[in-house]
Amino acid sequence: MEMKFRFLGGADAIGRMGMTMQRNNDVSLFEYGMSPTKPPEYPMECGRVDRIFLTHSHLDHCGMIPSVCGRDNCEMFSTPLTAEVSEILMNDSLKIAKADDYPLPYAKGDIDRTMRNVVPLTYGDTIELKGFDVSLHSAGHIPGATMFEVVADTSTVYSGDIHTISTKLVGPARPVDCENLFIEGTYGGRLHRPRKEEEKAFLDKISEVTDRGGRVLVPCFATGRTQEVMLMLKNTGYDMWVDGMGRSVTRLYMNYPEYLLDYKKFKGAKRAFQEVRNPNMRSHSAKGEVIVTTGGMLDGGPVLGYLRELGKNPKNAVLLVGYQAEDTNGRMLLENGCVMMDGAPVKITAEVKKYDFSAHADHNQILEFVRGCDPKNVIIMHSDTRELIKKDLEGDFNVILPGLGEEFTLDV
Ligand SMILES: [Zn+2]
Ligand SMILES: [Zn+2]
Repeated sequence: MEMKFRFLGGADAIGRMGMTMQRNNDVSLFEYGMSPTKPPEYPMECGRVDRIFLTHSHLDHCGMIPSVCGRDNCEMFSTPLTAEVSEILMNDSLKIAKADDYPLPYAKGDIDRTMRNVVPLTYGDTIELKGFDVSLHSAGHIPGATMFEVVADTSTVYSGDIHTISTKLVGPARPVDCENLFIEGTYGGRLHRPRKEEEKAFLDKISEVTDRGGRVLVPCFATGRTQEVMLMLKNTGYDMWVDGMGRSVTRLYMNYPEYLLDYKKFKGAKRAFQEVRNPNMRSHSAKGEVIVTTGGMLDGGPVLGYLRELGKNPKNAVLLVGYQAEDTNGRMLLENGCVMMDGAPVKITAEVKKYDFSAHADHNQILEFVRGCDPKNVIIMHSDTRELIKKDLEGDFNVILPGLGEEFTLDV
């Protein structure tokens, strides 16, 4: 059976994902995200759709779904955890757009309508749709993240974001035999340092900083990274605090033990931290030894308040543990040693270090995963270095690098 595919965003770049899959008048939308830049960037306009598939709750995948689901009143398929975390993020991005005075991409009512249209599914489930079935497989990456397998005459896998090693938070994605594989290529051309070494370096740095009487600030994405870092620090015994949206996401994760690698350890990690439940508590938390807080790129959230308090003492340290996009405070801190606060650059004299705790497969892990799926066609997305992956796959597979807005056809 022939299907037409078209990327509305996120084909040759990381951020604002969106892809349609169409047969006759029946249209499925895979993800519809936004890049939380200032101003935010959105995918191309999307025509009427019949249903939406959401792989996971990161904003570049879920952020713009209410604009479509609210308009078309269509069903959204995802794991229940992905839906619940996405709701927090959607509401937050609306709040940020209001605060920054950007045009609102949708209304609160659209988010509510999206949530009413959620069809919760989990790994191993299969649903029958018009002329094809769809099954779910774990994607690793973050709790609740799923790959979708579309089964008609053959099978087609859409990976979303994947990780193929076990982290402290989630187990790995496993290859799925298929004919067509849509795979993310975030780390095309790059390799991760072995996880254990990176974790040791991180923990050693924290002990060095606390030994010299300093405090450690760990800015983290709310979804996934906050909890991964909490798990790494679980048994260290420091005076530790967690603040920001990461707290709410942690609580949601507690309700879904089936999506966590080890619920008991997760509970232990939560207990090892004191939660900042209201702004008044920040006078205490800022005196803690380790503060894990949202947001990960230092562009908003409680992290800026802590940075103001802790950033001017060279004994302290800011440990970055995630991706720092261009034009963000995080990138500026790494490159120029300063951040923008209230419209003016502020010099940070605390020590700054970056660690790689990525939730994405690296170059070799991507190749290995593709070989495990053994597809005929490999379509690489979510990457600005996908030519490097193509180079290593060509010959063995038919590799397709679709452009933005470009329509292509596959037998599915
Ligand atoms: Zn992601
Ligand atoms: Zn992503």
